[in-house]
Amino acid sequence: MKGENQMDLIKIGKFISLKRKEKGITQSELAEKLYISDRAISKWENGVCLPDAGNMPLLCEILGITINDLFSGEVVNMKENEKRLEENLLEMTKMKEEKDRQLLKMEYVIGSIILVMFLTIIAVAALIKMDDWIRFLLIGIGFITFLVACFFMLRIEQVAGYYECKHCHHKYVPTYLNVNKAPHIGRTRYMKCPECGKKSWQKKVLK
Ligand SMILES: [Zn+2]
Repeated sequence: MKGENQMDLIKIGKFISLKRKEKGITQSELAEKLYISDRAISKWENGVCLPDAGNMPLLCEILGITINDLFSGEVVNMKENEKRLEENLLEMTKMKEEKDRQLLKMEYVIGSIILVMFLTIIAVAALIKMDDWIRFLLIGIGFITFLVACFFMLRIEQVAGYYECKHCHHKYVPTYLNVNKAPHIGRTRYMKCPECGKKSWQKKVLK
């Protein structure tokens, strides 16, 4: 076990030395940047001991490596994986953003169509001569269509994008009930923030 540790120290030491030379800095320059003695750097590079935990973050920053790399004594492939994961996450976020944008656009289209239909039905019921029961039936159908449309539009407002709290800038997706009962001007709604608990006029944001 002790032998293994010794091996690691030497590998880590060689790695620190390699990275330092790649950066084109001398042992004493590195020591100066870290506010420690040249001897300490020499000890690390010869595998005598590890850098103090307190020195590690700055050392890694100067050498352009991660703490993970430092302990492994080599640049770990994980870094590549993490980067790819980040890229994938970013791509997924963009896709959701685009979907939300289309949903909100659809809300306007549905809203306009339903409004025209509703007004047409009411106009027909009011202006054209017909039996009273047909008139009531038409008005009934008009209102039901209107209510169903409202339900879908509210649902889109709830799930597409996020609402942002004015106080703490927390972004969240509210419950359907909260969206439904909140007073609103356009897409800005007066709601209670689940994070800080304060009420404010919250804007719809896509990111
Ligand atoms: Zn808040």
